Amino acid sequence: MTQSDGDREKAAGICANCGELFTVWACRDGTVRPVSPHNACSCDDPSYRVVDEAEVFDGRDLI
Ligand SMILES: [Zn+2]
Repeated sequence: MTQSDGDREKAAGICANCGELFTVWACRDGTVRPVSPHNACSCDDPSYRVVDEAEVFDGRDLI
């Protein structure tokens, strides 16, 4: 289940740099950023991307 808020959508995300998982906003313009920066990783140069929820959470409800 996803939540939409105009031009962005809540999704499962990962930092490609360290592998940390968190919830992100996936914007239509391709921008991906953590919903809560406090829950994201602490990389100096993080690389966020959206991941398939089933891939990461194995069917567990994300939200
Ligand atoms: Zn990271």
